[in-house]
Amino acid sequence: MEYDDQNIFAKVLRGEIPADVVYENDHVMAFRDIEPQAPVHILVIPKGPVPCLADARDGAAMGELMLAVGEIARQEGFEDDGFRVVINNGVRANQTVFHLHAHILAGRDLTWPPG
Ligand code: AMP
Repeated sequence: MEYDDQNIFAKVLRGEIPADVVYENDHVMAFRDIEPQAPVHILVIPKGPVPCLADARDGAAMGELMLAVGEIARQEGFEDDGFRVVINNGVRANQTVFHLHAHILAGRDLTWPPG
């Protein structure tokens, strides 16, 4: 899929739209979801232009994304509590923003299967 730099998370990255940023480094930005599905709902996005997980080719960038999840869990104090990381890929999986993002969900019991 081609990357559209007018997507909402690209605008967040450029500072054109405000976000409740909880973590940032050279590789990723993380901010609170505006429609939280759990008491803690944080989105972690790579700074590079990757629309979907299926488009990802840069292993180092993907590693940074996953490492940031753990860093955020420790920073926010839920590393020893249960939490879930979700990446929706494509319309059928309910991906609505086509800038790759990992959802971190925490702060409540999370059921399985997710539906
Ligand atoms: P997905 O459905 O996996 O593409 O997830 C997109 C997520 O982005 C949804 O959970 C939305 O609530 C969230 N979202 C959309 N716009 C914003 C925004 N401006 N700031 C924070 N979260 C957003």
